[in-house]
Amino acid sequence: MNRPTFLAPDLMSARQLMLEADLILSNHSGGKDSGAMVALIATLAAELGVLDRVQVVHNPLGILEWPGSAQIAREHADHYGVRYVERAADADLLDLVRARRLWMDALARYCTAAMKRGPGLAYVTEAVTALGLDRTAVVLYGLGLRAQESTARAKLAPVAVHPRSSGRRTIHTWHPILRMTENQVWELHREHGLRHHTAYDQGMSRLSCSFCVLASAADLIRACQLRPELAAEYAAVEWEIGDVFKPSLSMLEAIARADGTPVDGERLALLKLRTKHNRNAYRLASARKKLTREDAPAGLTDRITTLRAACADLQNQMRAWGYEGALDRWELVG
Ligand code: SF4
Repeated sequence: MNRPTFLAPDLMSARQLMLEADLILSNHSGGKDSGAMVALIATLAAELGVLDRVQVVHNPLGILEWPGSAQIAREHADHYGVRYVERAADADLLDLVRARRLWMDALARYCTAAMKRGPGLAYVTEAVTALGLDRTAVVLYGLGLRAQESTARAKLAPVAVHPRSSGRRTIHTWHPILRMTENQVWELHREHGLRHHTAYDQGMSRLSCSFCVLASAADLIRACQLRPELAAEYAAVEWEIGDVFKPSLSMLEAIARADGTPVDGERLALLKLRTKHNRNAYRLASARKKLTREDAPAGLTDRITTLRAACADLQNQMRAWGYEGALDRWELVG
């Protein structure tokens, strides 16, 4: 196997980590970055004679992920002869969104916690138990995040001890391809003869959930064209909870742009008013909760008054459109 030479500066620490680990897990979404990470980890592990410690872990997202993602992850594991494992969350992401009545966003990514991190950690517990060691197990948990993708990712440490480490296990969250560029990711696929998901050939730049709150407008619109039925389901949830999918692009708009049809302006205006109202109502509820605490911050009463006034004003605007809050919980604002 060809070793990815451009990673030379990180090789020493990567080798050390891998030699010390009892278990080397490589999380795989089915996307290109996961593929590059598996290539890197498996190549180094083979050189070090620790390939038997490597496992590829996929957290299936059901119909929400791109069909065929699991097959790609499995193929990549098979390519290097390492174990492939699937662990899914019990929950359905759209049910979580319905229950929360708010979409996730960059600051509140409850989706990742529920659908990926949770099942991933549960698997660590299971795998460490299976090792049957009478000392603390060392686990490397590889995530295929790259600095090039966002400023938040650029600030990540290459390795960090996971807060859920314990006397039984030390888990190192590892970002082995943090400094890899997109070109290098593709280069590695070519060098290693790894198949990539066809969604890339159909115009997607990133993969995981077909509709991701962090995706670009171009990706979301393309995803609407490729998966129109799922897009309609997301739009139905958006309307049901009264919260736009992304502040910069609702599913309603994404679908219209994908179809090349004009967006329903009235529905969009009402959806935006409902979003504003429901988000303010959410803030109001949490401010009221804080007010009951001894350490309630100063000025909270004024904030509550402002939020109530804003909600009342938005309700009046919506009544002018003939909407009486049928889908929302206006009574919480009173
Ligand atoms: S792909 Fe996007 S929407 Fe899906 S779990 Fe990850 S962050 Fe959340």
